[in-house]
Amino acid sequence: MIEGFETLAIHAGQEPDPYTGAVVPPIYAVSTYKQDGVGGLRAGYEYSRSANPTRTSLEECLAAIEGGTRGMAFASGLAAEDTLLRTVCRPGDHVIIPNDAYGGTYRLFAKVLSRWGLNYDPVPLGDIDAVRAAVRPDTKAIWVETPTNPLLGISDIEALASIAHQANALLLVDNTFASPYLQQPLALGADVVVHSTTKYIGGHSDVIGGALITRDRDLGAELAYHQNALGSVAGPFDAWLTLRGIKTLALRMERHSDNAEQIVDLLMAHPRVTEVFYPGLAGHPGHEVAAKQMKRFGGMVSFRVAGGEEEAVAVCDRTKLFILGESLGGVESLIEHPGRMTHASVVGSPLEVAGDIVRLSVGIETAEDLIADLRQALGA
Ligand SMILES: *Cc1c(COP(=O)(O)O)cnc(C)c1O
Repeated sequence: MIEGFETLAIHAGQEPDPYTGAVVPPIYAVSTYKQDGVGGLRAGYEYSRSANPTRTSLEECLAAIEGGTRGMAFASGLAAEDTLLRTVCRPGDHVIIPNDAYGGTYRLFAKVLSRWGLNYDPVPLGDIDAVRAAVRPDTKAIWVETPTNPLLGISDIEALASIAHQANALLLVDNTFASPYLQQPLALGADVVVHSTTKYIGGHSDVIGGALITRDRDLGAELAYHQNALGSVAGPFDAWLTLRGIKTLALRMERHSDNAEQIVDLLMAHPRVTEVFYPGLAGHPGHEVAAKQMKRFGGMVSFRVAGGEEEAVAVCDRTKLFILGESLGGVESLIEHPGRMTHASVVGSPLEVAGDIVRLSVGIETAEDLIADLRQALGA
């Protein structure tokens, strides 16, 4: 019986190739498939937008590790989001989104899907009463991110699922920051899980990708129909890299969490750090909920630097091991200034981030080296 997370990550959808015995699924760099007589498809493959064996391996693995019945792989996280929203919503529908949504998600609602007639309201999802008050008769979905970016806000997936379902709406959870190893939204009542597999799932900063996973078979079929109809699928090489990354997801998430905890200890004790944002801290407002729904607290840490924006920027410029860069979830540690980098496009919107905040994506290097680098960057 195969059911442990690590076993599924390594084996689900990855039977040795029936033709050669290759232990790793081959990269099927192919667009079309020979038919044995008109309509005589071998193993159902017809055209690679509709299905490709390397992508199928990834999709079956994604479904298994999120506890779903169907997984779908896309060219990017945003391609997955666009397909999801245009599948489950109609023009005129209303969606509740986090008031600190990922910037690209906010832009998709504000600049693209609003023109298609989708209405949305940014709401603080950590405040259950505020969410309940924001539900309207035409609310079709609640979009959740937990933990959020960059302040690591936490919202209660189970409670939000019950609000959504009472309103006949769907609960859509962007599980990118936690990864399926640390958090299983479908088991907590979510209808669809969304990923930017670019981040922890891929894990090596070498591929852009996205995913949708659902447990409901009818919804899965409808999403798959739109995946093919809209066509923003993952290519076979990208699918292969992502699948390779998944094999070590459990080990990586443990190490990301170990290293982040040690860095949080350093930051909490440092005189030039005025506040630390990490859901593993007992004083974090979402700590109890996070402890209930997450296995550990992951590798993302943000903090405020004494001296304001100029000092925060200077800390980002001074690290040597932490690489100054956007994105997150790779094996290498990254540092960034959200106000001027990842969140520069939301300055002046409800999603604006304070200038003294620095965000870390803590990698899996030797913890002592990471600590020494941050210590020197923060200064005496
Ligand atoms: C990066 C990211 C996305 C977008 O994914 P892409 O792969 O860049 O398109 C969506 N949500 C979250 C939380 C992200 O971090």
